[in-house]
Amino acid sequence: MVGGPRLVVVSGPSGAGKTTVCGRLLSRKGFERVVTATTRPPRPRERAGVDYHFLAEQEFEAWAKQGRFLEWATVHGRRYGTPRASVEEIVKRGRHALLNIDVQGADSVRASGFPCFLVFLLPPSWEELEHRLRRRGTDAEGEIQRRLADAKRELLRQDDFDLKVVNVDPERAADEIARAVG
Ligand code: 5GP
Repeated sequence: MVGGPRLVVVSGPSGAGKTTVCGRLLSRKGFERVVTATTRPPRPRERAGVDYHFLAEQEFEAWAKQGRFLEWATVHGRRYGTPRASVEEIVKRGRHALLNIDVQGADSVRASGFPCFLVFLLPPSWEELEHRLRRRGTDAEGEIQRRLADAKRELLRQDDFDLKVVNVDPERAADEIARAVG
């Protein structure tokens, strides 16, 4: 795969290891994380413009109306969106803009028509995915079952992506993605 800097979307089911693999990519100089926007309040150590652009409901609404988001979604009653400008600034600096987003979000980015490279991250096996979700230990059984059901549905979508990467080892998965985007 050749071409200059662009928007690279890393998606896949919860438990595939998106955050870890994105962390490995961000430690390389060619990648920069897209700061997205949200209407939820900042958590204690979060910084505005670094972790998120924290927007009031009305501001978010205005940005959406003005077409300033590549995509946006409501998650747990709060709104989240990818500002087009955040992506464009990174690409202008000559780096790949990295976006870690769920499968539905990736679909919305695709639908926006913005040029991007879509990566689907897969767990090594179904058993491993289940193991990873349980190992986190933060979710109740009902939540784990819900995530497993979501994962089953999301895995059916893997062939709609530009690249499928099996995450056996995060460093190798990052290598594969870096190689594919050039
Ligand atoms: P949190 O509030 O825990 O930071 O994030 C909640 C969820 O919102 C996570 O699943 C995160 O991936 C998702 N999210 C963060 N930014 C965006 C965005 O710009 N668009 C979409 N669709 N989801 C986002």
